[in-house]
Amino acid sequence: MSDTTKSKNDFIREIIAEDLESGKHATTITRFPPEPNGYLHIGHAKAICLNFGIARENAGSGARCHLRFDDTNPEKEEVEYVESIKEDVAWLGFDWGGHLYYASDYFEFFHDCAVALIEKGLAYVDEQTPEQIKETRGNLQTPGTPSPYRDRPVAESLDLFAQMRAGDFKEGEAVLRAKIDMASSNMVMRDPVIYRVIHSPHHNTGDAWCIYPMYDFAHPLEDAHEHITHSLCTLEFEIHRPFYDWVIEHCPVPARPRQIEFARLNLTYTVMSKRKLLTLVKEGHVEGWDDPRMPTLSGLRRRGVPPEAIVKFCERIGITKFNGTTDVALLEFEIRDFLNREAQRRMAVLDPVKVVLENYEEGRSEEVDVVNNPEKPEEGSRKVKLGRELWIERDDFMEDPPRKFFRLGPDRHVRLRGGYIIKCVGFEKGEDGEITEIRCEYLPDTVGRDAPEGVQCKAAIHWVSAEFGAEAEVRLYDRLFTEEDPDGAEGGFVSVLNPESKQTVMARVEPSLAGVEPEWRCQFERLGYFVADRRDHVPGERPVFNRTVGLRDSWAKKK
Ligand code: ATP
Ligand code: MG
Repeated sequence: MSDTTKSKNDFIREIIAEDLESGKHATTITRFPPEPNGYLHIGHAKAICLNFGIARENAGSGARCHLRFDDTNPEKEEVEYVESIKEDVAWLGFDWGGHLYYASDYFEFFHDCAVALIEKGLAYVDEQTPEQIKETRGNLQTPGTPSPYRDRPVAESLDLFAQMRAGDFKEGEAVLRAKIDMASSNMVMRDPVIYRVIHSPHHNTGDAWCIYPMYDFAHPLEDAHEHITHSLCTLEFEIHRPFYDWVIEHCPVPARPRQIEFARLNLTYTVMSKRKLLTLVKEGHVEGWDDPRMPTLSGLRRRGVPPEAIVKFCERIGITKFNGTTDVALLEFEIRDFLNREAQRRMAVLDPVKVVLENYEEGRSEEVDVVNNPEKPEEGSRKVKLGRELWIERDDFMEDPPRKFFRLGPDRHVRLRGGYIIKCVGFEKGEDGEITEIRCEYLPDTVGRDAPEGVQCKAAIHWVSAEFGAEAEVRLYDRLFTEEDPDGAEGGFVSVLNPESKQTVMARVEPSLAGVEPEWRCQFERLGYFVADRRDHVPGERPVFNRTVGLRDSWAKKK
């Protein structure tokens, strides 16, 4: 395991180490419990890396992490989400090793626990309307008012609960509530509802049930049922912990998991909640859950983000008890850091202008060697074909360049990456004043050699042969929002969408790029990191590339 993994330490890992050492637990069992009501996002990656990471680090003692679908609400959940979640967890590099569970498989157990609570006089069927229940909860200053049904006999509640299960009640006509303390200073403890009637079919259990447990009741029971030792959740659940413990205390459970809270991940220029991401998809602001601008794992994947960079990012931000917002530039830094080391270089011209080498014979061509990855000399070089006409980037030429501009201009020299030094001897302009063609001469014997004496050549530019290169659709993605805190925008997050978050150009690319497999990543020299699109790129037929990230942080400059 790498050094960074070894040095990882945080208050949760400390607790786990202590529990192993003291013998409180023989091993550690964690879980990642997504609700299948949307795609996973980078915030979930933090929880995945924590839970699966702890299991991996403690594998020696038999530790494991369960992937559990928290599918207790029949109304919002879909099978499509289940499949995407499994794919995303595996893509990040984690393995549930056969421990894949569905909370909906425990419905009978939840029901038995509810019955046990009623029998102990710790739960009752309440027939108040949802509005009455809400109104009588009181607030932080005033205690709640007990329901008139609170002290009904156990037998009556048992009977009514059975009727609820049998479908004799409509939605909202009756609920089961825990009987705790209507005057508790913690609102969560004021007789929370633990079961309600919902007449909707469930994706797993179909019409078998028409009563469903509330999240706060089901979650501790799911954990206990699976013998989870440490149930790690985000800070919002801190005030729910007394109820978590109450359920474990009073229900017939086979284990006593401990809930520990940590701060959730928030990122600048990003919205994270599934509800808001669903809005972006439904209202057509993006092209689906896996749109490369989305903070979903499938979006990041399609954007070309390596899973290793996400895991590294999660390690770097660490686990604390303090809510805050992480600069998205930190994620981008990890992406660049990884790709700079790992990605091969290729040449592509996004805004092409034609160069003609006037002293290079028509019909002649040759191959030059271009280094694949200067960070990894062992990856060697490739042959790229060169001829009389080529494309270079429009902004690598200036008609009237300042002294510090080292690229092409009238009478100036520049090197073609891996190839000749060329000199500009003239140019043509169209009616609109745009340069249409640059005339150059190549300097023989300069491939792989220093500039001849008296020739100033301080830069190398990328190029694509006009004859041998290919055309490719290139999507230039940028941040989806223009504001650092889209959630805080006055007009809502939709009002601060970046209108330039996607620009599509037809680029010229070196021939090899047309044939790469989908998801192949590389650096387009001097332009940024790109990936062959997972969905639309067809090798040899239709090259499509997505920009993952630029070479440096252009937003830092703008600010
Ligand atoms: P959202 O608020 O985005 O809809 P959620 O918490 O409702 O997310 P779940 O499917 O319930 O989504 O989450 C599964 C797990 O992922 C939970 O344990 C939750 O604590 C964790 N999680 C969700 N969002 C984040 C986040 N931003 N940072 C860290 N962990 C998160
Ligand atoms: Mg949730």
